[in-house]
Amino acid sequence: MTDPHQDLRDALRALCAEFPAEYHRKVDEDKAYPEAFVDKLTSEGWMAALIPEEFGGSGLGLVEASIIMEEINRSGGNAGACHGQMYNMNTLLRHGSDVQKRHYLPKIASGQLRLQSMAVTEPTTGTDTTKIKTTAVRKGDKYVINGQKVWISRVQHSDLMILLARTTPLAEVTRKSEGMSIFIVDIKAATGNGMEVKPISNMVNHETNELFFDNLEIPAENLIGEEGLGFRYILDGLNAERTLIAAECIGDGFWFLDKITAYAKERTVFGRPIGQNQGVQFPIAEAKIELEAANLMRWEACRLFDAHAPCGEQANMAKYLAAKASWEAANACLQFHGGFGFATEYDVERKFRETRLYQVAPISTNMILSYVAEHVLGLPRSF
Ligand SMILES: Cc1cc2nc3c(=O)[nH]c(=O)nc-3n(C[C@H](O)[C@H](O)[C@H](O)COP(=O)(O)OP(=O)(O)OC[C@H]3O[C@@H](n4cnc5c(N)ncnc54)[C@H](O)[C@@H]3O)c2cc1C
Repeated sequence: MTDPHQDLRDALRALCAEFPAEYHRKVDEDKAYPEAFVDKLTSEGWMAALIPEEFGGSGLGLVEASIIMEEINRSGGNAGACHGQMYNMNTLLRHGSDVQKRHYLPKIASGQLRLQSMAVTEPTTGTDTTKIKTTAVRKGDKYVINGQKVWISRVQHSDLMILLARTTPLAEVTRKSEGMSIFIVDIKAATGNGMEVKPISNMVNHETNELFFDNLEIPAENLIGEEGLGFRYILDGLNAERTLIAAECIGDGFWFLDKITAYAKERTVFGRPIGQNQGVQFPIAEAKIELEAANLMRWEACRLFDAHAPCGEQANMAKYLAAKASWEAANACLQFHGGFGFATEYDVERKFRETRLYQVAPISTNMILSYVAEHVLGLPRSF
């Protein structure tokens, strides 16, 4: 069967070929942001894939958006530098007002504005999101924000950020998931005027930060949707996020498999290629099997999402399977490159670090297991 998205893949591959391994390696070594790469993706319209045509985008679905993310990682790049825009877009698209959509979407589509950041995680509450302590208090035509966030990515390379804050104290709501709201924050206007940004040095070249809010004032019209329903909106957007991350892991997995298969055929030790040994073949074959299975679940999650059907189960399972499969492919790739796997110039150690992140962020493996146990299998609630 021919791939119905071959044209899309060919176009992405042509763009990615302009940014070879040396480019991504240098960006990583310099702990820089891949500006030229993201600019090119934006100017060619790929970063506006999910924006409807009436707002200047191409009106594509999650299937196509996921192929874009997959191809970036499959080419040796890291979609983590720009994937935020794809899934944050959904929050604005599905829950933003007409005025907000008309104001922001055409500018995001043209590249005039970047919507790359979403601030949910807090240092003292972690995965227990309903306990967040950042507050937004309405004062006239403004909301005043106080609190702290951690691990907030791409803030220094984004114009806009979606912020989750509590608008009704936890003690005053019937259900803990109520009373939180989401806002659009103009990052440049906020920085130094109530918001402080402190970069976190970390294992991957992933621009991420601590944020401190001290009486940050934002216009009341920046509230997305209804006050108090923010957590529901965030959860809704997470299915897109899980599926896109799954696609990135699939891209990584294929990159590792291509790399190690080629190397195992050519590297000769004990007078024969290392790939002739079954001890080498089997972990690679196992990674291939698991990756293909994860890919099927990714397509199922995309299909349901694009049909506006419930897809929490499939999106979470796709993310779980893909992150596990790419990690197993990464391990096999590093192991069978021997010492050379540790050399920067082979790119294996960089991709190994990059793909490892997806067992922890944006959702840890345990949280997916917990979701499936409780919400899919109906086992007793754990927390
Ligand atoms: C590079 C990077 C970028 C990130 N970018 C963003 C971003 O842009 N925006 C944002 O909001 N967040 C971001 N995050 C945060 C990320 O989503 C969280 O780190 C992740 O969800 C885990 O939360 P935590 O670190 O608070 O871990 P914790 O909640 O402290 O948990 C620690 C560990 O314990 C496990 N655990 C906790 N409770 C249970 C339980 N009941 N049962 C079983 N296991 C449990 C968890 O699974 C986890 O492995 C980023 C993180 C990283 C590392």
